[in-house]
Amino acid sequence: MPAYLYDLIARRAPSPSKVCLETPEGRKLTFADLAAGSARIAHALAARGVVAGDRVAVQVDKSPDAILLYLACLRAGAVFLPLNTAYTPAEIEYFLGDAEPRVFVCEPQKKDSLLEAARKAGVAHVETMGVREDGSLLDAAGTQTGEFADVERGADDLAAILYTSGTTGRSKGAMLSHGNLASNALTLVDYWRFTEKDALIHALPIYHTHGLFVAMNTLLLAGGSMFFLPKLDPDLMLQLMQRGATAMMGVPTFYTRLLAHPGLTKEATKNMRLFVSGSAPLLAETHREWTARTGHAILERYGMTETNMNTSNPYDGDRVPGAVGFPLPGVSVRITDPETGAPLKQGEIGMIEVKGPNVFKGYWRMPEKTASEFRADGFFITGDLGKIDERGYVFIVGRDKDLVITGGFNVYPIEVETEIDALAGVVESAVIGVPHPDFGEGVTAIVVPKKDGAPDEKQVIAALEARLAKFKLPKRVLFASELPRNAMGKVQKAELRKTHGDLYKK
Ligand code: AMP
Repeated sequence: MPAYLYDLIARRAPSPSKVCLETPEGRKLTFADLAAGSARIAHALAARGVVAGDRVAVQVDKSPDAILLYLACLRAGAVFLPLNTAYTPAEIEYFLGDAEPRVFVCEPQKKDSLLEAARKAGVAHVETMGVREDGSLLDAAGTQTGEFADVERGADDLAAILYTSGTTGRSKGAMLSHGNLASNALTLVDYWRFTEKDALIHALPIYHTHGLFVAMNTLLLAGGSMFFLPKLDPDLMLQLMQRGATAMMGVPTFYTRLLAHPGLTKEATKNMRLFVSGSAPLLAETHREWTARTGHAILERYGMTETNMNTSNPYDGDRVPGAVGFPLPGVSVRITDPETGAPLKQGEIGMIEVKGPNVFKGYWRMPEKTASEFRADGFFITGDLGKIDERGYVFIVGRDKDLVITGGFNVYPIEVETEIDALAGVVESAVIGVPHPDFGEGVTAIVVPKKDGAPDEKQVIAALEARLAKFKLPKRVLFASELPRNAMGKVQKAELRKTHGDLYKK
């Protein structure tokens, strides 16, 4: 019986012996290995009682086995729930409690620190998976043999839940169906012209929509291959560009880091056919510098966890610096008045709304929140502000919420502020994003101290380290006697951003 997305991947595999994944250590996986390895893990999951619709939560470092686990979940009918590797046990406790997975897979060395969180959430099975083909889940899978009878799943059935950060309260689980993921990846295969001849430099994390779905689903459905790097590594990436890679997908930080490398030249990139950027705004300046250095125009696209990819600059034609391109085939994009939802005239700035087979099924166990983020005619309210120019290019001009995007990761200020405000000696705080040459934005905290017992900058950061993932930690903590507020009592973050705009200027 077919499991929709997995079935599509299996059917489109060019040949069983073709390599689809390669690591810097020289481990290679063919499409046949994908099928056999995911079958073994699917057996192990089923042996742990996983049935259709069960969640399998996963916080593991990037490895080919993590991909086998993702595919195994699709085949076992489970809902794959990847978690950022930087999340602390306190954060994991919330996700496990909210998602109630049947199985939680973590890194072997973290198991002890996470058992309590899993116990409180009532998780039946805690398994481990390391990056050296080790861990209890692979041990269990290793004893399994034979075909796995895939659990039937249709386009509308859930394939994954990815948690987004919440602007108020806690994270929301975005529910993505097999059809959401398959339709978007197939569209990207065509739009970006991926074929089995492609080899993608994959240095993105795989707990996020960009690395997991945009990069991986697209390459798997194209029958291409991936150089699987644990993290951003400019030296290695430049070597791979001269050793068979044809494409790269990255966040803007990848491009600024590579630009800082003297080895980035026209010669070094001459075999590459495509550079894609997304997840955060790519500065027009970076786009132009890249073209000057390499002769390649970066193709910028726009999407989000909830919607997969929405718009893309064209493969042929102008890839406009600062623009995120045109709505993808089958995706409708419109700009509306954020308050009323009324469509705006071409060129006017407003809320970006999207509709299409790419748009998610709603937030896990949050029907009211889901309803409030959709219009009556089915358009999803993205929270991004933008405009469409006379040629039809979409531009993102800002974010409705005060989201900070640092190195491609989203940080919602409220989460950091709540932790700072809880510290002794703190009256209140405001967390903003300040332009940063390396990270796009640097998380920056402005703290109003109490007269006595106020912590200093180092102490604030040290206190947060145990509570928050590293990427959420403020790069700087500044002190002020009060925060600027408007007549309604709202903190004026725009004003703070203006005041501290030069903080990270080199
Ligand atoms: P995430 O759900 O983590 O993928 O974050 C999605 C958000 O990232 C979007 O709502 C946008 O605010 C932002 N984003 C993604 N791609 C771009 C882009 N190319 N330019 C500007 N912002 C982007």
